[in-house]
Amino acid sequence: MDHITSIFNAQQVYKYTLRKNNVSERIAKLKQLKTSIKNSEALIYAALQSDLRKSAFESAVTELLFVYGELDFAIKNLGAWMAPKRVGKTLSNPFAKNRLYYEPKGVCLIIAPWNYPFQLIMSPLISAIAAGNCVMMKPSELSPETSKVVSKIIADTFETQEVACFEGDVEVSSALLKLPFDHIFFTGSTAVGKVVMEAAAKNLSSVTLELGGKSPTIIDETANLAKAATKIAWGKLVNSGQTCIAPDYVFVHQQQVDEFIGLYKAAATKMYFKSEANINPDAYGKIINAKHFERINHLVSDAVAKGATINWGGNADAQTQTIDPVVLTHVPTDAKVMEEEIFGPLLPIVAYTNLDDTIFQINAKSKPLALYIFSESSKNTNYIIKNTSAGGTCVNDVLVHIANPKLPFGGVNGSGLGSSHGVYGFINFSHERAIVFQRKIDFNKMVYPPYVGKDWVLKMLSKLM
Ligand code: NAD
Repeated sequence: MDHITSIFNAQQVYKYTLRKNNVSERIAKLKQLKTSIKNSEALIYAALQSDLRKSAFESAVTELLFVYGELDFAIKNLGAWMAPKRVGKTLSNPFAKNRLYYEPKGVCLIIAPWNYPFQLIMSPLISAIAAGNCVMMKPSELSPETSKVVSKIIADTFETQEVACFEGDVEVSSALLKLPFDHIFFTGSTAVGKVVMEAAAKNLSSVTLELGGKSPTIIDETANLAKAATKIAWGKLVNSGQTCIAPDYVFVHQQQVDEFIGLYKAAATKMYFKSEANINPDAYGKIINAKHFERINHLVSDAVAKGATINWGGNADAQTQTIDPVVLTHVPTDAKVMEEEIFGPLLPIVAYTNLDDTIFQINAKSKPLALYIFSESSKNTNYIIKNTSAGGTCVNDVLVHIANPKLPFGGVNGSGLGSSHGVYGFINFSHERAIVFQRKIDFNKMVYPPYVGKDWVLKMLSKLM
């Protein structure tokens, strides 16, 4: 792993050059990256098709357009983001000029997962470049074709002293994590997030952790069930359920469970099936690899063994690594499908009669990355929001909060630390440096020793503060 250390050392030197870049220079880099991506579009589409059987349409919407959106937003707003911010004076120091400067953290590490393998490595890279950093990045080994294209784009666009991409598995990741980075941006599972934070602690590197977990959905009795079913079917089944903010399980009022299942089946069939029994491979992605295929099937068999009912689906084709959508009811709380993040096309439905029970069950688990509410009652909606915590929430929709670069995206505790996108990503990759410019006249001398005869100063300061 000598090449990793030598590039890290080169970046440690180059970061002092890079930090002097002005707005136009950073914008030029972002534009350069955009051009390289544009020139590689065909390769990106082919890679996503090969890794995840993503259609060109889905790849455009969930990966490329997303990245272009982040790039354009950063290019448009970088001047405002980088500008020092005025901060109010204190009464005890009334003449000083107070400013907040955004300085680059320095040399940053980005580690990415495989489920949106282009978007999830490019989006933090955009924020890191906007903030003026050198970057070492590691895409996922489980999406090798996309990782290859990412690596090529980076090599075509940047000198390694500025941005370098390292393909590889845990061994490469572990070697990178030994280095004293100024910041580490990790997207992946909660379990590996803990490994990353432990490694970061050894060097006191700051971290952004974009993790996973179980994102619940509550459908109350006032909700438009048909709309909820369509939106949940889309959010659950896009990328075959391999989406960090997919609705993981759904609370449905006991009296509406059967109706909801009918509507969900109809909506899912319309979007993802060629005929009643046949999945449409142009719209429905594959499971990333045999290990995850087995893992998801095991979640179903474990739930059934513990008493759950399969209400729909269950076909799984190992050859094409395709698992048809599954709906489960009567799932006991100790079934793995109710304990682990599903990350696949299975939808457990939890019947409830009292809204407080749903809140109790949500709060008994780790704080989710997303929580979705379907309701026409603002009283119920506000009640759920007030009594729960989540990284983000959509009311009467799913997933779409991720698409607004003006909103921070991230988790809370078990589902993540820090946020990404737009200015929030820029701030995460920056150090907010407090700067006070003292004037010629200042009152600070009043608090210098000796203190004899200065009781009046204390009295005055207590009044002012
Ligand atoms: P993962 O944690 O297994 O792997 C993520 C990255 O970490 C990969 O690059 C991998 O090579 C590396 N890695 C794996 N084990 C490691 C170890 N022991 N030490 C150091 N590095 C290691 O996650 P994954 O399977 O690639 O992705 C799925 C998970 O990511 C899900 O939990 C999902 O919810 C989460 N996710 C979160 C977001 C978000 O924005 N919050 C987005 C996508 C995925």
